[in-house]
Amino acid sequence: MITVLFSAREDIWPNYETRLPEALAEEGLAARVVREADPAEVDWIVYAPNGGLTDFSPFTKLKGVQSLWAGVEQIVGNPTLKVPLARMVDPGMTEGMVEWVTGHVLRHHLGMDADIKRTDGQWVRHVAPLARERTVAMLGLGALGTACARALAGLNFDVRGWSRSEKRIDGITCAHGDEGLAEVLREAEIAVLLLPDTPATTNLLDAVRLALMPNGAVIINPGRGPLIDDDALLEALDEGRIGHATLDVFREEPLPAGHPFWHHPRVTVTPHIASETRPVTAVRSAAANIARAERGEGLLHTVDFGLGY
Ligand code: NDP
Repeated sequence: MITVLFSAREDIWPNYETRLPEALAEEGLAARVVREADPAEVDWIVYAPNGGLTDFSPFTKLKGVQSLWAGVEQIVGNPTLKVPLARMVDPGMTEGMVEWVTGHVLRHHLGMDADIKRTDGQWVRHVAPLARERTVAMLGLGALGTACARALAGLNFDVRGWSRSEKRIDGITCAHGDEGLAEVLREAEIAVLLLPDTPATTNLLDAVRLALMPNGAVIINPGRGPLIDDDALLEALDEGRIGHATLDVFREEPLPAGHPFWHHPRVTVTPHIASETRPVTAVRSAAANIARAERGEGLLHTVDFGLGY
């Protein structure tokens, strides 16, 4: 019998209390899932930072931590964490992100605002180019970026992907490294950011890189706030060099009421809702991963502590 500690915000426990033990049982694991336990007895922690757990050192028997979140920047630098950490990679989360990204890309591609906001009785016809005539950059080609890139390529967008390591993905023109980023940004009429928050990605979109993008380009950021230099973005928006920014994530969340992003005519703020961990599928993904490790097959989606993601 293994002991799995559920360490996340109290109010989401009812979504997991029955589902997680059932999912572990379906994987053939004899497990008890608890909210509290003697740390010396805990084999696995299913974890979100909002549960408040920061000291992993009392968990002397711990085999690994399964994050409920895809982003791990709040735990990856924790010096008390000495066991493998797995990110959440889950069909529900992926589907949610694909839908959110596709929706926001199509809004800008089709110029939907012009019609949705029109109340002046003017018959103004603007016909958008076809998706095949629109270049979309996907910065980050991981679990989420690749799924979004594929969905957009499926709609015929000309998708250019960028990642740290070299990749080949059918239907996507892939680039990597600093030079690759410059190439991708130069063509990017719409850029979607699905990168993790790490020391190497902080302020990735700074004034210099924003200036590479075509005039009027759109930025869509469901990744993490620190990926963009906010002041440089505001300046580019003020000057119209960046036509619009749809931002789901921010350096400080909730975004403070007086922040210029709230009122900027070229900014859309969404409150970190691009994609949620969906308990129904997430319990299966977590249970399957823990079961793999228990069978000696190795945990999937493990974080590289050196790279920070
Ligand atoms: P993955 O770890 O699967 O993918 C990360 C991608 O970023 C990889 O392609 C990786 O490259 C690339 N990358 C990392 N560092 C660099 C770098 N220095 N230069 C170039 N590329 C880099 O993550 P996911 O796809 O699962 O998630 C991406 C992010 O989305 C999460 O970290 C999280 O911040 C955010 N997120 C936001 C949500 C929301 O609701 N707003 C919900 C869920 C996630 P390589 O492939 O070479 O390793």
